[in-house]
Amino acid sequence: MIPVKDISSPYPPESVARKWLRILGNGMARHRRIILGVQWMVVVVYAFLVVAPAFLPLPDEDVHLWNDLTRFAQFAFWGIWWPFVMLSMMLMGRVWCGVFCPEGALSEYASRRGLGLTIPRWLRWGGWPFVSFALTTLIGQLTSIYEYPKPVLLILGGSTIAAVVIGFLYGRGVRVWCRYLCPANGVFALLARVAPVHFAVSEAAWNRAQREPAVDCPPLLDVKHQAGSGACHSCGRCSGHRDAVTLEPRSFTEGVVSLKSGKGMNWESITLLFGVLGVATGAFQWSASPYYVKLNMWLASLTIKLDATWLFNADAPWWVLTHYPEVNDAFSWLDGISITLYIMATALFMGLGQSLFLVVAQRIAGGAVAFWRLALALTPMGGISVFLGLSMLTLNQLRQDGIVLHGVADARIALLSLAVLWSLWIAWQTFDRHNVSITRRVFALPWVVAALALPAGSWALLFFVW
Ligand code: SF4
Repeated sequence: MIPVKDISSPYPPESVARKWLRILGNGMARHRRIILGVQWMVVVVYAFLVVAPAFLPLPDEDVHLWNDLTRFAQFAFWGIWWPFVMLSMMLMGRVWCGVFCPEGALSEYASRRGLGLTIPRWLRWGGWPFVSFALTTLIGQLTSIYEYPKPVLLILGGSTIAAVVIGFLYGRGVRVWCRYLCPANGVFALLARVAPVHFAVSEAAWNRAQREPAVDCPPLLDVKHQAGSGACHSCGRCSGHRDAVTLEPRSFTEGVVSLKSGKGMNWESITLLFGVLGVATGAFQWSASPYYVKLNMWLASLTIKLDATWLFNADAPWWVLTHYPEVNDAFSWLDGISITLYIMATALFMGLGQSLFLVVAQRIAGGAVAFWRLALALTPMGGISVFLGLSMLTLNQLRQDGIVLHGVADARIALLSLAVLWSLWIAWQTFDRHNVSITRRVFALPWVVAALALPAGSWALLFFVW
């Protein structure tokens, strides 16, 4: 077996960064009440912004986000919340989950008062993060969640109710929903690995320390081995436990390069290659794509040939397909089929294309590196892709209100370049960690570049060609 190199943090043991992070982590453990207060404040604001706009008439064209609740809620959710939560995952880990998330807080609250049933096997299935992410993304597009408040209530509100029900049924004071079913869990777990901070565990200190009562870890982790992993919510409750757990800095690559276990990694690779870089890419891009128009026209001619003209009717209810005739916006059944097929085709094209190039890279590297390791090297591209897609909503909404930001094209080029270089750096370090020779690395890396060219190229098409 080829030996795997050891890693070390780039920060000296007593650097200022380490000291302040340790103080912050221990503060999070000591001041649980403050975190709980913040969580309940977020719950109240979130509930108001999800529910209230759905019961108001649709806003007029001449209102702005500063004088209309619906427009404000739309901007708060899709212009600020989602893009910057994604960014925060890559910079701070899952602090959103552990400190702010209203669904997590409600699910845990329900779980403290619930039935405490054993978590069933079906719920632990490793494919849920991909399936729930893909389904909610697709339903969001079909119902135009970014534009209308009713689908926000349906999808975000429905997800919150499901979180409470699962919390009430299973576990005791934990977040079963967040660990297994939350539609964002898979994406968050991936992105948090590239964050430059994490809760690190010193095994030596852990083993030396006196026994202490087990930590009340919300996503049910084995703290000794999983604190700071992609599944860790960075809630800080275990900070200082057995004098072994501390909030620590690390490099932007270490969380991926140093992954030890192969368990569940195939699903993580699928979530990244077919979900974040596939389904989500299709969802962000279909409305501007000339290929979508071609697909829609081809399906329309097929519909006429087959005499299935009812597919042209735009009579589906709003919770199935976008249906707002009062503002001349309604999808026909044919539109719904076209959008679904386009998103599925994009997911397959991107997922299979990237996988193919990565398999070639893996073979050239001599098979010393598992496929999933190279797949997860594309994590920065996944995170920055989602941020670019969501920030399009931010920019569109600001433009509607007459606020035009300058330098957007340059910023997009810079972010895409950063995504490519960051991902390649992880791939290079992964090869290094597994002692792949320089010659093999040099021949394998262009195939990783080819895999990255698919998402990067799709964004370039959207931003600069279509
Ligand atoms: S391991 Fe658990 S308790 Fe510790 S920070 Fe992560 S989620 Fe919180």
